[in-house]
Amino acid sequence: MIVREIYARRILNPTRIPGLNYSLNPYVGCAHGCVYCFADYMRKYTGHREPWGQFVDVKVDAPHLLRREIKKAAQGVIGIGVVTDPYQPVEKKYEITRRCLEVLRVWKGGVSLLTKSALVLRDVDLLREVEGLEVGISLSTYNRKFAAELEPRVPPPDERVSVLAKLAKAGIKTRLFLAPLIPGISDRDMDLEKLFEAARRARVEEILVDLFNPYPGALSRLLPHVEKLLPEKGKGLLRSYKKSRMAYGSEMKMLLLRLGWKYDVRVKFAY
Ligand code: SF4
Repeated sequence: MIVREIYARRILNPTRIPGLNYSLNPYVGCAHGCVYCFADYMRKYTGHREPWGQFVDVKVDAPHLLRREIKKAAQGVIGIGVVTDPYQPVEKKYEITRRCLEVLRVWKGGVSLLTKSALVLRDVDLLREVEGLEVGISLSTYNRKFAAELEPRVPPPDERVSVLAKLAKAGIKTRLFLAPLIPGISDRDMDLEKLFEAARRARVEEILVDLFNPYPGALSRLLPHVEKLLPEKGKGLLRSYKKSRMAYGSEMKMLLLRLGWKYDVRVKFAY
């Protein structure tokens, strides 16, 4: 793993992502290296030649920049961890995300933080102090075997949902981000039932769902793993998904809305 310390030009960037006004990424790259990650396009801005998941640039001046930039920025929702995981392993040492949260105690526009890591629990004290903050934990499947293949460096899905339960218990608003939906992997009835049941127990306020984006880089990284997990039909499923992504999306909408009703969990869609 290559870890580099860098100085950024700015830290708060306007974004068109629905529900967010700014993005804030304390790191470039992500040691979690999920095989479907769309953020690997960031490599071209860094000069890194290592594969996705093998490098992290640490924006060591991020909290300082943030302190300066929020004085001039119009209020709005800041999304932390849009193209990186703010609680990936290097955060233990550098505490860049933690210091950014310290700065954001004066921010009134809301903060939406997304991670897959239990390290977020370290900062419960601060998370409670930031106005309008919510923490999202993402997973693409509730199936342990599938998750171990696709998201090999993060805790298993049930442990991630337990993190949400602990956050909710501490009075923090939570959201489960069911993404990316991958055909054959994310849509098995038994796993979805278990996921919704666990979400209800964890007092998750909302499940937000998004589809896998089959752009060439992500698709070619994902394909061998799906073929390994589903040797008979994996390739075919992804091929037809590529052609009829929205049809798959609307089928999933109906299924997930039904489950949301059954388990009394609100479900929203990012597509
Ligand atoms: S944790 Fe998120 S940012 Fe990191 S590799 Fe996985 S999907 Fe990408």
